[in-house]
Amino acid sequence: MTITPIPDHNDLFEAEEYQQQFERKREFEQGCGSAEVERVKAWTRTAEYREKNFAREALTVNPAKACQPLGAVLAGLGFAGTLPLVHGSQGCVAYFRSHFARHFKEPVSTVSSSMTEDAAVFGGLNNIVEALDNATALYKPDMVAVSTTCMAEVIGDDLNAFIQEAREKGSVPEDFPVPFAHTPSFVGSHLTGYDNMLRAILDYTTKDHRGEPNGKINIVPGFETYTGNLRDIDRLLTVLGVDHTILGDHSGTLDSPADGEYEMYPGGTALAEAADAINAKATVFLQETATRKTHELVRQSWKHDTEVLTPPIGVANTDRFISEITRLAGVSVPAEITAERGRLVDALTDSHAYLHGKRFAIAGDPDLVVGLLGFLLELGMEPVHVVSTNGDAAFKASAEAVLDASPFGHSATVWPGKDLWHLRSLVFTEPVDLLVGNSYLKYLSREAQVPLVRVGFPIFDRHHLHRFPILGYAGGLHLLTQLVNTVLDELDRTAPDHSFDVVR
Ligand code: SF4
Repeated sequence: MTITPIPDHNDLFEAEEYQQQFERKREFEQGCGSAEVERVKAWTRTAEYREKNFAREALTVNPAKACQPLGAVLAGLGFAGTLPLVHGSQGCVAYFRSHFARHFKEPVSTVSSSMTEDAAVFGGLNNIVEALDNATALYKPDMVAVSTTCMAEVIGDDLNAFIQEAREKGSVPEDFPVPFAHTPSFVGSHLTGYDNMLRAILDYTTKDHRGEPNGKINIVPGFETYTGNLRDIDRLLTVLGVDHTILGDHSGTLDSPADGEYEMYPGGTALAEAADAINAKATVFLQETATRKTHELVRQSWKHDTEVLTPPIGVANTDRFISEITRLAGVSVPAEITAERGRLVDALTDSHAYLHGKRFAIAGDPDLVVGLLGFLLELGMEPVHVVSTNGDAAFKASAEAVLDASPFGHSATVWPGKDLWHLRSLVFTEPVDLLVGNSYLKYLSREAQVPLVRVGFPIFDRHHLHRFPILGYAGGLHLLTQLVNTVLDELDRTAPDHSFDVVR
């Protein structure tokens, strides 16, 4: 039997027949010649175009953010036995599931109330009643975390009333946990949605659970897309001897082992632990923007110490994290942690000659960008463009404070609310040596011929980065490895023969 190999799509589309098709398509779509397309493309890289680009107000092009319910889904996945339910159309939920599945390379259990045209006209009450009935009967969760999409918000569906009616109709028992959050996508971003849902879950689970102090420290990681970070924060606190609870921890859910058995709910913070979080000694937040409303709840209702820290990325940020945790818990720093710090400092010293003075542009979520800036400045790198589509005035102030504190931060401009099309203008008019950000920056990386260090969310086009930490001293080492090896790859790629050295 002859087996005809299936051609790889790259080879297939190189064939003449396809190339001719592409050319005809280009001619049909362009309405002008290739020379004109090239002329305009070149013009969009100029300072004149940059001015026009930055004058636009009513249009966003390629924003580096996602919508609220996507964040709400991640918050739900951080708790044991919890099924996120999004009240809206199936397309939205398919987008959230695929976005997370492409980043984490894991299946993501999330259901939808499947609103269609009739629900858009008459309201989605019946959809919520049926969704809660079906979801609990089929998937046997311990908790359902409900959020909303644009459609439900535009027609004004009232989740509180709908869930109460679903209880009265017997979809779920009166005491079955159904925390909910309204997450309108036309304001805020995935961070706002994460915060809204986390607050709702913690408010629900801790209600009527005030009891004896448990002496623990709560850690709220925020919209954390590195399962390695969650695991390493847990390890660090264990080594420090600090009794703690991570609220919420999706590392077991989105990085579960392949052992031949399918588990619908393989991880998450235990609901009993979440309920007891109100009795902790203190709560430490590792992201500011992504946990503002949750912080407000803890401060006003749990009535214990709270600390909001910059994400512990790099030496100084991790030092502050360790020092705050040891102060709050009343423990001292063991030699193991001191040695871990020393190894990172040693590695920074080994690599700094390749990183010092490298100009970079960075884009991402505000908390991540502020944490990364601290570390990159520690390396003597020089930020030039700092972009955060979902960053606000508070982000700008925090980023500028970090830049002002370093002798290498003075050539940077912070751009809250700007998108990746703005970033393109910035990079073409004021070039940099490196880009730092998520997979969507790869288009600019190719066009501007600037190497990209993939950090943040989403990372779709490289595998397993999210399984390694970027927080803490160990995380700093991973990040440093990524940074310096990207620079060295570029050095080798462009080196003349006399500098193509085997030792770097
Ligand atoms: S922006 Fe609105 S319509 Fe689009 S995925 Fe988000 S919730 Fe759905």
